Amino acid sequence: MSEASAPSSDATSDPVADPAHELLALARGLASHLERRADLGLRRVDRSAAQAEPSISKSGASPARAESPRDVLAPTPPATVPLFEEFPAAEENRKRARACAGLGELRALVASCTACGLAKTRTQTVFSDGPEQTRLMFIGEAPGQSEDEQGVPFVGAAGQLLSDIIRKGMGLARSEVYIANVLKCRPPGNRDPEPEEKALCTPYLDRQIELVNPEVIVTLGLHAARHLLRSPLSMGRLRGKVHAWNGRKVVATYHPAFLLRTPSAKKDCWQDIQLAMRELGLAPRKSAGPDASAGSR
Ligand code: URA
Repeated sequence: MSEASAPSSDATSDPVADPAHELLALARGLASHLERRADLGLRRVDRSAAQAEPSISKSGASPARAESPRDVLAPTPPATVPLFEEFPAAEENRKRARACAGLGELRALVASCTACGLAKTRTQTVFSDGPEQTRLMFIGEAPGQSEDEQGVPFVGAAGQLLSDIIRKGMGLARSEVYIANVLKCRPPGNRDPEPEEKALCTPYLDRQIELVNPEVIVTLGLHAARHLLRSPLSMGRLRGKVHAWNGRKVVATYHPAFLLRTPSAKKDCWQDIQLAMRELGLAPRKSAGPDASAGSR
């Protein structure tokens, strides 16, 4: 598409002196801008997003939070997935987690956790990556082998793709966002988390969210989305919208490991990421599309 406000080259009048020419150029520019927004799946003009600086730091001069257009704000589904009732030990973890005044204390509590069998097979717990104060948090499923070895979430192949999404897609540094998982220990052989493991680990994640206090959470994969939203719905139903959840905005999208296996899903992921960007007041990036943001690996 041509540059938005460039007047046509065959114009003979002086573009500055001729108001009709200037009006035409402005109209063309507006039409082109709206087309680009439509290409990006954005239906409403959001003035705060368009003017925002690409910063998500809480300490810096962060942009005013964008109002959420009603057409994308979905209410949190009712809590249909029982999580704790059948696992009373989770209540004990919840009390301990709630007693932690800061993330350092919580990290130490997690490091000493032996509540489930994963404590026997882990190399170490994997608590988080990123600053304690940020407006954006990503939540994955559970550490894999690389994460178990290094003690940092999303550092393997899926983590490289997540870094690309953050850097190339969102225009942020990875160090600006907080990254955590539902489970803090690696399930052997990367099997799915068991319900009991999730129930026992959830109090840690819940307290992490309270302490970091992000405005927007992006869940990666079905486990994280269902778990956070307490919903049994499919990824197809959960993604593509902004959920109101405990006073925060939650955007569910595909897990980067799934995107590595299914590159055709990158386009949907990019749409979800743009929803999160809009909630943060980050201006849509011109050149980043599914390929640029989600990278081909
Ligand atoms: N997959 C996840 O869900 N989390 C990680 O930290 C790594 C891979």
